[in-house]
Amino acid sequence: MKVIGLIGGMSWESTAEYYRVINQTVKERLGGLHSAKILLYSVDFSEIATLQTEGKWPEATTFMCDAAQRLERGGADCVLICTNTMHKMAEEVQQAVSIPLLHIADATAAEIEKTGVSKVALLGTQYTMEEDFYKGRLAEHHGLEVMIPPEMDRNSINEVIYNELCLGKVQAESKNQFIRIIKDLAAQGAKGIILGCTEISLLIHQEDIALPLFDTTAIHAKAAVEFALGTTDNT
Ligand code: GLU
Repeated sequence: MKVIGLIGGMSWESTAEYYRVINQTVKERLGGLHSAKILLYSVDFSEIATLQTEGKWPEATTFMCDAAQRLERGGADCVLICTNTMHKMAEEVQQAVSIPLLHIADATAAEIEKTGVSKVALLGTQYTMEEDFYKGRLAEHHGLEVMIPPEMDRNSINEVIYNELCLGKVQAESKNQFIRIIKDLAAQGAKGIILGCTEISLLIHQEDIALPLFDTTAIHAKAAVEFALGTTDNT
């Protein structure tokens, strides 16, 4: 079994989910006392969130590249960035190491492709919804049509992510708000919903929604297991 390298802590609430899903999946696949070989470099999210809000992306990129290199030096066979947002610098991180970076958008697109859905709506941080690094990859590499919510809804989703979910607060009012936003996107033609922030699955579950949900946390974690068990090469 290969060693999975995780850059986590963004936030630790979702990294705990990665840890759980990766180990649960290895247990299902191998049985008995098997569990995953994981190296975790967990950051202080306050430092990262400050770099984000101050627009200090070059510094954030240096930080992420350094984290990936620490994992490689520690013996990781692959690296996962355990947040959609920080895939903004995925290319630089990949260039900084010689082990493969398992990209969250590629893993998610592979799951979407299996369902035959081609028009999806993307929920995530403002960076993920509004910039091109994520939507662009889904469209250009995978041929998906990607919708995003209107500005007011993007603002409230972003607020809930940073002021509630990343702090471990799961509130019924926010859940209802997300369900309303998803229903609006469905009415506008979305055939699937990408939970494109690794904390949203703490709030919204498949049973809340009629459309297929693509939970990037679980999808990414499971893709890491397939890599570790040698069922994909991802190189
Ligand atoms: N975990 C979130 C994501 O998947 C947001 C936290 C961050 O800014 O990295 O985008």
